[in-house]
Amino acid sequence: MQGSIRIIPLFFVTFFFTDIHKISAQQPKKLKTIIVDAGHGGNDAGACGQYENSLRSKEKDVTLAIAMKLVAELKKQLPGLNTIPTRTTDIYQSPNEKAVIANQNKGDLFICIHADSGPLNTGRRLTGTRTVTRYKVTYTGKGKKKKKKSTPYTVEEPVYEYYKMPLTRSGTSVWIFAAHKTSDKLKAIMDQEGQTEAEYEIEAGADSSYNAFDFNTPEGRTIAQIYAKRYQEKSDRLATLVNEEVEKTGRPSLGVSQRQKGIWVLQATNMPAILVETGFINNPEDERYLNSEEGQQELAESITKAVIKYKSQIENPVNNQTSK
Ligand SMILES: [Zn+2]
Repeated sequence: MQGSIRIIPLFFVTFFFTDIHKISAQQPKKLKTIIVDAGHGGNDAGACGQYENSLRSKEKDVTLAIAMKLVAELKKQLPGLNTIPTRTTDIYQSPNEKAVIANQNKGDLFICIHADSGPLNTGRRLTGTRTVTRYKVTYTGKGKKKKKKSTPYTVEEPVYEYYKMPLTRSGTSVWIFAAHKTSDKLKAIMDQEGQTEAEYEIEAGADSSYNAFDFNTPEGRTIAQIYAKRYQEKSDRLATLVNEEVEKTGRPSLGVSQRQKGIWVLQATNMPAILVETGFINNPEDERYLNSEEGQQELAESITKAVIKYKSQIENPVNNQTSK
C-alpha cells in the first residue's frame, strides 16, 4: 500500500503544475474542519452483542457514545478547529446523508466511528436426557397375510442447549478507501467542485488570472485523480497515527487496511477519510471496553492525539519527512 499510491508521475506534476497551483485553495494545507461520524443510528442498529451472556449492546449506541467523547476531546484540545458531528442523537442517516453533511460543511477530515463484528460459531452443551418412546416395526406372515407389528420401547436421549460462542478476535483496526475505488473518490471530488464552482469564482474575485476550474475536462480529471491520491495519502497517514496511538494503550491494534469491498461513505466524501473499527462487539472484553466510560474516553483520546500529530505533520512539511 505504501509504494504506489505515493507516486505521482512527474510529468503530470510538471504538466499541470500551473493548474494545480491555480486551484491549490481547494485542497487547503490547514486543518480547519473535522467531521466526526457516529456510524449507523436509528433503525440501523449495526452489529449487536449476540453471544451468550453478552451485554446485548448495539453498535449504533457505542459509536454515538465514542463519537460524542471524541467531539468533546477534539474541541477541548483543538479549540481553534471546527468539529462537527454528523449526528448527536439516535437517528437514522443514509450514507449519502452523512457524506452530504461532511461535504457541505467543507470538512478537511472525515472520521467514522464503527464497531466490528464477525460470524459467531454455535456451541452446544448437554443439559440432560429425556425418555422417548420409539417403535420397532416387524412383519409377520407372507403375501396377503403379511401383518405389520409395532412394538414400543423407550430410550434415553441427550438434550442439548445451543448457544452463540463469543468471538475470539479483538482489537481496533483502521480503514481507508481502497486504491481501486479511487474513481469513486474522484467522482465525489468532481461533484463537489462542480457544486461550489461559483463560490470559488467569487472568492477568486480580483485575481483575473483565475478561471473557475472545470473538472469535467480530461485535464480536470487528471487533477482530480491527483487530488484523490493525495487524499488517500493523507487518509493513510492519519490511519497509521490512530493505529499507533491505539497500540500505546496496550489494546490489540490490527493495523491499517484498505477495504476491498469499499466503504461507500469514505469514497463519497471530498476529503481525507478514515473509518475506525473501535473493537469487536461480539468479543466479551471488547464489548465491555466499548461500553465503558473509560474505554470510550481512551479511544477518544487516542484518536485526538493522532489528529493533533496529523495536523502538525500536514501543516509543517518538515515534520512530514520524519514520519512514516
Ligand atoms: Zn458499522
